[in-house]
Amino acid sequence: MSGEKLKLGFVGWRGMVGSVLLDRMHQENDFEYFDTVFFSTSQKGEKAPDVASVDILWDAFDCDGLKKMDIILTCQGGDYTSKIHGELRKADWRGIWVDAASTLRMKDNACLVLDPLNKGLIKDEIHKGTLDFIGANCTVSLMLLALAGPIKANMVEWISTHTYQAASGAGAQNMKELLKQMGHLYKIGENLIEDPHSNILELDKLISHELQGKSNYPQDLFGAPLAGSLIPWIDSPMENGQTREEWKAMVEGNKILGLGGGQQIAVDGTCVRIGAMRSHSQAITLKCKSDVNFSEFSDLISEAHDWLDFVPNNKEDTLKRLSPANYSGSLNIGVGRVRPMNLGKEFVNVFTVGDQLLWGAAEPLRRFLRLYLEVTV
Ligand code: NAP
Repeated sequence: MSGEKLKLGFVGWRGMVGSVLLDRMHQENDFEYFDTVFFSTSQKGEKAPDVASVDILWDAFDCDGLKKMDIILTCQGGDYTSKIHGELRKADWRGIWVDAASTLRMKDNACLVLDPLNKGLIKDEIHKGTLDFIGANCTVSLMLLALAGPIKANMVEWISTHTYQAASGAGAQNMKELLKQMGHLYKIGENLIEDPHSNILELDKLISHELQGKSNYPQDLFGAPLAGSLIPWIDSPMENGQTREEWKAMVEGNKILGLGGGQQIAVDGTCVRIGAMRSHSQAITLKCKSDVNFSEFSDLISEAHDWLDFVPNNKEDTLKRLSPANYSGSLNIGVGRVRPMNLGKEFVNVFTVGDQLLWGAAEPLRRFLRLYLEVTV
């Protein structure tokens, strides 16, 4: 390749994932390596971010503009990918498509990117001429990063993971709805909350009335109360009774690891939306292939990679560190509550928390861009 910079088209940079990605790319000086054009589905012609090589936003639905790019990086969402990716490929655009949405993840000719787990596989795919590189589901990436040590050591037979997923996983507008719900509950109960002599059952009844939808509790986007409650359903239904979010854990996890057929690790569990603002948590039961030596196992977990933050299994450290609030905005993956289980000597309990917008979405994409340059330029 010549010394010219590659043209990078960035779509969806103002959403939850996109704005975190923009920030990270800025921090790591990634934009120095590209001539970047910013696209928008709604703000064409307005001013582009400062790091842009072109001052104004281009129309994200204009395929002629998009086709001028060597790489398109999109965090705009699945509907956008479904509409535009096919049109560009039909028009014989042979550029690199890098995407946070799930649309293309399980296509045979798409590679899932999570380089601490599958750098070799990504490099092979670049050499093979693969054009679509997709970030995996956030909880899947975070789970694999948390369990990277035992997975790489080929110790794991199956994984049962139950998630506690933050509102921001559903996008910018949903985060605002969670806050509206919190504010609404406070306003409704304010007099009783602030009165030290008020009757708690009276307050509880008032709040329950709101949560049970008997009033105007704001829930248009989530479709159910989240503040003061939880939602054990994320994404669309699958025929086998799982939700699509739950289905992704096994299929995407094994695809990232390059495991097929009998080598696959079985993964299943219930995905739950909770009222955390940002960062997803998971309670994991790990079945290992043989009895576990706990000191060796803890070393294996904690030394797996640079971003692993091992939290000792005690109350003080757990309360202080192992929470969505603590890991929000951090690249560290918290792993704690590691302990034997009554289920048998091959079983381990693990609780993990990570920022689903960083390692769960933005970071693998920006690291792929750098890896692509390293391999091709
Ligand atoms: P999002 O916050 O809803 O943003 C998507 C787009 O909505 C933006 O690019 C923007 O497009 C438009 N938008 C409209 N009103 C907005 C507002 N008030 N603030 C910001 N943007 C607004 O979506 P997202 O959560 O980033 O998700 C993008 C994709 O990444 C989805 O496919 C999602 O499944 C995937 N993903 C999300 C997460 C996560 O934790 N959120 C994690 C992994 C993967 P215009 O500028 O063109 O109007």
